[in-house]
Amino acid sequence: MIAFIVRADIMIYERKAETGKTYFMITQEQWTAIARKERKADGTFWYALRRGRTYCRPSCTTKSPSMDRVVVFASCEEAEKAGYRPCRVCRPDQMTWQGARKNLAERVRFYIEDHVHEKFSLQDMAQMLQVDGSYLLRTFHHETGHTPLWYHREMRCREACMLLSHEEYTVAEISAMVGFSTPALFSRVFTQMRGMSPSEYRKQIMGAVSTSSERKKEKTSCDACDAGAQTGK
Ligand SMILES: [Zn+2]
Repeated sequence: MIAFIVRADIMIYERKAETGKTYFMITQEQWTAIARKERKADGTFWYALRRGRTYCRPSCTTKSPSMDRVVVFASCEEAEKAGYRPCRVCRPDQMTWQGARKNLAERVRFYIEDHVHEKFSLQDMAQMLQVDGSYLLRTFHHETGHTPLWYHREMRCREACMLLSHEEYTVAEISAMVGFSTPALFSRVFTQMRGMSPSEYRKQIMGAVSTSSERKKEKTSCDACDAGAQTGK
């Protein structure tokens, strides 16, 4: 049974489910939220498509439904009881979509940190995390403002900076230690990320270290004087 009831400014679309006696209703407001994929409606209701298999948040971008195919639910449990599975993109069963996206961005970060010395593609990572590659890229960028490639390079450069501040390794050795295939590539990426070459960075940090240790020495002697003066009191 399908009925349209027009009531002043709101329209209610009402349909009897093919199996059972449940009535699904969609208000004009809900339909607008779905059509415009409004985030502010997330958490207020969920929807699926008739003959579809998954249910979504109103703001999910994977579906382009027509009004007469939409089935609305007041809760995830209701949708699951009706036989729908949670959509793998908007994860309606999680607290918030924002929460699900943050969670994915975090998993990407952990993946990169765990594989920082290895070479891997976006697809390798997406496959391991069981998500779509372009969705992963978009989500990570949305949450962090950077691409996964940037983060991978940043992690390698951070480690390189630490190693460069000690003299026991050459730049070429550090390049291999942090996972670059050639010192030339290491140098190019490092310069892009830090605005100076690895050798320049080393020179600068070494200069800073010797100056600060001299200052520390001076400061320690002053502290010692003060402490001596105090104990002498
Ligand atoms: Zn969805």
